[in-house]
Amino acid sequence: MDPRAGPGNGSVGLSLVSSNPAAGQRSITELLADPGRPTFSFEFFPPADEAGMDVLRQTIMDLDHVGPDWLSVTYGASGATRDRTISATKFIKTQTRAQTVGHLTCASQSVDQLLETLSSYRAADVKYILAIRGDMPGGPTVPWVRHPQGLANATELVRLIAENFDFGIGVAAFPDLHPENRDADLDARLLLAKQEAGASFAVTQLFFDADAYFRLVDRVRAMGCTLPIVAGIQPVTNLAQINRFAALSGAELPERVTSRLHAVGDDPAAVRAVGVEIATELSADLLRGGAPGLQFFTLNRSRATSAILANLRRLGLDRRTPAAVSDG
Ligand SMILES: Cc1cc2nc3c(=O)[nH]c(=O)nc-3n(C[C@H](O)[C@H](O)[C@H](O)COP(=O)(O)OP(=O)(O)OC[C@H]3O[C@@H](n4cnc5c(N)ncnc54)[C@H](O)[C@@H]3O)c2cc1C
Repeated sequence: MDPRAGPGNGSVGLSLVSSNPAAGQRSITELLADPGRPTFSFEFFPPADEAGMDVLRQTIMDLDHVGPDWLSVTYGASGATRDRTISATKFIKTQTRAQTVGHLTCASQSVDQLLETLSSYRAADVKYILAIRGDMPGGPTVPWVRHPQGLANATELVRLIAENFDFGIGVAAFPDLHPENRDADLDARLLLAKQEAGASFAVTQLFFDADAYFRLVDRVRAMGCTLPIVAGIQPVTNLAQINRFAALSGAELPERVTSRLHAVGDDPAAVRAVGVEIATELSADLLRGGAPGLQFFTLNRSRATSAILANLRRLGLDRRTPAAVSDG
């Protein structure tokens, strides 16, 4: 989703946690090609300190029972945050058996710096990169400026990675349209271009309208893009997030969503419960409509994600029970 979800440092020294060993034996592309088994993946941000690292460890352990197909850590806009991303990604890579996707942006970095970061990921045995352009320090509203020795956009980053390494490459997609251009056809053409440059899957920005996701899928398929598109899920757990998520996704949250949250606005527990209910409904619609997987933007917490997954299990849509995990 976005590294500015939280600060971080990648201090290590945490105990071993387990994850989905069966998923580790199949590539992400193979997992996404399995129509009977949607993927569930979790995105974290790099923690700021030891206390934050403890929270992250606990979250990974709490989510372990669902057998995550992969875990990822967002990549920051400043050098210090970036170091923490690499450290946290290495930590997950070495302390869990989940597949790890390293995020990489081309904001404010030369090509040499990008190649160096990719080598660090490779040295940590990370096999997948989410290749995104990134936003300028200061956030998505600050106009994008290319680094003088850097790259112009994510498609160039995908090409750089594909030409120099053998990572599996994921890219970003935008059901509510990328806010800079708000051009559905351009977004679709860019996904096709990223596939042609070497990407093999996409993960969406957060959104709240399943139809927007299916419209995006239809648009890109009509252009010949076959990338599996994993849907990004972000439950709203407090009212303050309504504006923040709208700024991130570039779209107002639908009134039918915000009105349900505002209706219980003076009761934080009820807001959380309604947020989980809304995210469950969205997830269920997406899976029933054929989305190949869901990526949960966890904000390093497990409670809401666990609750949504439990709901999906009750609906027969989460097949990540221990038995299903052992089938691979
Ligand atoms: C799943 C996910 C994870 C994310 N993780 C992070 C993260 O870890 N760190 C972070 O900083 N940000 C992250 N982001 C946010 C992302 O960096 C921003 O949304 C960024 O503004 C767009 O990235 P992109 O890869 O789509 O860029 P691009 O594909 O380069 O597009 C960026 C803008 O440029 C335009 N554009 C690109 N190429 C062309 C072209 N050839 N011609 C005309 N216009 C063009 C596009 O239309 C778009 O408006 C994430 C987003 C998602 C969906």
